[in-house]
This record gives sequence, C-alpha cells and structure tokens, in this order.
Amino acid sequence: MDALPMEEQSGLPFSSLNRGRAHTCGHDIHTAFLLGAARMLKEREKELSGTVKLVFQAGEETLEGAQEMIRAGILENPAVDAAVGIHVQPTLLPGYLNYPAGTFLASSDTFEIRIQGKGGHGGQPHLGIDPINVAAHIILALQSLQVKEVAADIPVVLNVCQVEAGSASNIVPDTARLSGTVRTYDDSACRKLKIRMRQIVEGTAQMFGAVGELIFAEQCPCTVNDPELAGFFSESLRHFGAGFITDGDYKMQVSDDFGFYTQKVPSVMFVIGCGNSEGGQGHNHSPYVIYNEEVLVTGAALLAHCAWDWLEKH
Ligand SMILES: [Zn+2]
Ligand SMILES: [Zn+2]
Repeated sequence: MDALPMEEQSGLPFSSLNRGRAHTCGHDIHTAFLLGAARMLKEREKELSGTVKLVFQAGEETLEGAQEMIRAGILENPAVDAAVGIHVQPTLLPGYLNYPAGTFLASSDTFEIRIQGKGGHGGQPHLGIDPINVAAHIILALQSLQVKEVAADIPVVLNVCQVEAGSASNIVPDTARLSGTVRTYDDSACRKLKIRMRQIVEGTAQMFGAVGELIFAEQCPCTVNDPELAGFFSESLRHFGAGFITDGDYKMQVSDDFGFYTQKVPSVMFVIGCGNSEGGQGHNHSPYVIYNEEVLVTGAALLAHCAWDWLEKH
C-alpha cells in the first residue's frame, strides 16, 4: 500500500493529490487486486475447500512490512500452508506472467555511508577536509567493485541512489551522507561485497583525513518460488484465459519483502505484465509510469483462482 516519495508526472486525471507522494510502483493496483479477489471468494465462500487469508502489503518499499506481519503472527491461527504474491510490471505486456521456479527476485541490502570531514570556507578548502570530495572517491571505488571483484556470471547490483551534502556554493560542509542498495542472488558474493565495501568506505575516508562509516539496514532475503507450487500453478493456469501467457521464466534484479514469506511457507510470487499494447509506458519507480488498467480484472481473478484451485486440489 506504500507510495514513493516523488511527484507524479503521468498527466492522468486521477494523479496523486498528495504532493511528493505517488503510487509509482503500482501498489494501489495490488490493493485493488486483493479487494477484487476478496469479493470473488466471498461470493462463493460456502464452496471454498478451506480458509483464505488476504494479506495486504504495508512497507514493501522499505522491505520490512512482511517481517513485521510475520512477527505479528500472520502465518498462524490458522497456519498458512501456501502463499501467493503478485507485483505489476509495466515493461511486460498485459497478460504476461513471470514466476520461475527457484530463486526469482534478488535479496536487498540497504546501506548508508556517513562521512565526517571538516567544514570551512569554500575559498579555503585546504583549511578543512571536504567530505564531498571523499564521497565522490567512495562512489567511484564502489562502482569498480562490481566490475572488478565479482565474477562476470554472478549478477550483482551495487548502486548509490542518494547523495546529501552541503548548504551553499561557498561553504565546505562538515559531513556528507550517501545511501544505496545491494542486490544479489548469491549469499557468498554478497558477504564478500559487504566486507570490501566497508574497507573502501573506511580506507578512502582515512586516505583524505576524514572518517567514514558504513551502516547496513536489515537484509531482505531473495524471493524463492517453491518448485512444486510453481509447477502446480503452471498446470492450473493453463486454461486461465485466452491469450494469457504464463511461460515467463527469468530472474529479476528487484526485491520484494514477500521474500520473507517464501522462507517460511511454500510460496509463489507472480510478476504480471501491465504495459500498454504498444509495449508499456515507463517503468516502476518512474514519475511518468502509466499502468494498463486491463490488469485489474486479470490480477484479481488470478489471485482468486489460485486460492480456489489450490484449496480444491489439496
Ligand atoms: Zn517499488
Ligand atoms: Zn513494489
């Protein structure tokens, strides 16, 4: 249900009215999916062969929501035997469904880098220690880690997405702050990267006389689709709808807190296409993204169908 901190630029008549907040990851669509599925299942509740729990998703962007829900007991009373999640993807055509068996979405480590320099006059940088200069060297060194220290066949993303420093054009600030994300499918590559990142941050800062600190937030695990459950759904969805493509079978370098559920119960995460027929309009996290609303019906029906059919066959 979470939005992103940006100004919507889609030009749609129903654009976000909240300044600096926009549903540019499609989570409003996910909420509508589940409400639609709830209505369908409720209408035929007496015929259902079991209990369905509908779990809305608060805090996906921070990748912490599912962890909180599990701690609060969402998987108990009654115990959950299987789980299904869904995310929209406007770079895929409508009806396209991607849900490979095994590791599907990457793990995510969010990091923050704090650099303590020594502020002063912009015209006399030699009297201080410029944390912006240190930050620039750290960013470049981190980027070379990905290319020079990880084997080419191991997919890894190490991205600095936020840079904060300074208040005026003639003041050397005291501190600089960077933040970013690491995405991998490989635990040992991830561990090695994190060790090297710390060495680069602390070592580069020291080289310039500053102090650098690297802080990692709690990790979100990979989303791993249970092969048996994924096989069940590929059979079950074969007759789901005319023109519906279900053979997507590739990993995606994004993360989802649904990964926490996949560690606890057999689960399948679907990524569903909702680009326009011309090939989609933008991508998730873009202020210009436009989702093809045909997906509302398909997504809701898909969730209801999965719950219905799984209960019937188990
Ligand atoms: Zn997102
Ligand atoms: Zn999202």
